[in-house]
Amino acid sequence: MPLIKYGHAEKKGDLCPDVFEVLQYRNEEDLTVCPTCGNPVRKMLNIRVASVKSEKDMLSPKNLANHGFTQYKKSGDGFYEKTAGEGPQVISADQARTLQAKGKF
Ligand SMILES: [Zn+2]
Repeated sequence: MPLIKYGHAEKKGDLCPDVFEVLQYRNEEDLTVCPTCGNPVRKMLNIRVASVKSEKDMLSPKNLANHGFTQYKKSGDGFYEKTAGEGPQVISADQARTLQAKGKF
């Protein structure tokens, strides 16, 4: 029996999560309204996409900074630009290699 993910299409009730899961038989019809608040819901078709997205969110600059990580993004010729966390705003590729060697990122 597959677990089907639904999300509210527009409004949602105060007690409702954005996304909820329902165990359904394969021959059962999809829900069209939320069993809790009665607002329209839509099936979240691609669960793989949803999990990739959350992984991306986990690696978002804001989340990394919240967890004390510093993230650098390669920007142009041998320079890295800081996108999150503490540390210098821009570092050179040499500095990046040094930090990497020290296990800083
Ligand atoms: Zn609802």
